[in-house]
Amino acid sequence: MGGKKTRREQRVGDEDQFYNIRLQQGKRNFAKIEKTTLVIVGTGGIGSNLGLALTGSGFRHLTMMDGDTVSQRNIPLSDPFTARDIGEYKAEVVRRFLQEKYGRRLKLKIYPVYSDKVSIGAITEPDLLFLGVDDRWTRLAITNLRVQANKPYINLGFYGWEAAYMLVVPHETACWACLWRLDDTEEVEKLRREGKCPQPEPNVPGAVTPASIQHLVGFAAGEAIKYFTGLGRLVQYYKFNVQTGDCEKRFLDSPDFFKPDPDCPICRREEEIDVSRLRRSS
Ligand SMILES: [Zn+2]
Repeated sequence: MGGKKTRREQRVGDEDQFYNIRLQQGKRNFAKIEKTTLVIVGTGGIGSNLGLALTGSGFRHLTMMDGDTVSQRNIPLSDPFTARDIGEYKAEVVRRFLQEKYGRRLKLKIYPVYSDKVSIGAITEPDLLFLGVDDRWTRLAITNLRVQANKPYINLGFYGWEAAYMLVVPHETACWACLWRLDDTEEVEKLRREGKCPQPEPNVPGAVTPASIQHLVGFAAGEAIKYFTGLGRLVQYYKFNVQTGDCEKRFLDSPDFFKPDPDCPICRREEEIDVSRLRRSS
């Protein structure tokens, strides 16, 4: 300690930004993290902070898409957004922020448009997709594309006072549409009564605070590391209530995780789905 520290006195590893994480995970696991490709759909409060959490965990290949621009009310909910970013595309602001922080280490690609305007491959090709949008049509359309492509994705959202995380492994776990059907309120009510539906209606104002967003994205980044390295038990479903402190966790290797619904229009393998019908109409 003291003021005499010089560059020569740096400890081994000081030159490696990811020294601690490499030690934790092991070199081979970290190499897997570094070559994994990720995509975040929606770079608002959830997606922008998640980009920071994922790149800080060692992930390098990241695509982000969002057609929205930064407004005043977004600033408290996102580490990358500042007052000077107002009016700029959220995805571009996040890209700039991450590039400034990690430089050429990162391979970033952005689409400053809504997800129905990008090529399908941008959604289906990455190894894992994170869904942090605030409309149900986009959730359904992305769910459809990932399930049909047989690629996993992670659904993130705030529902009233609850925050929820759900890992979807096509045909092994429930997808978002297994638990939510648009224009199918009665069915949702029935599933809810039977305890098979984990979430109340989405997009109700409530628990969206800086701290609860960080909690949710920190959890998601940790699970993404587990998913690609095989370290630890994977959680399929996690929900916490910001008001009461109650939480619920279902592991992928325990019997109570949410299973695919045989009547789900997206999970039924044999049925051809008309993608255009599921897409946003505007
Ligand atoms: Zn389904």
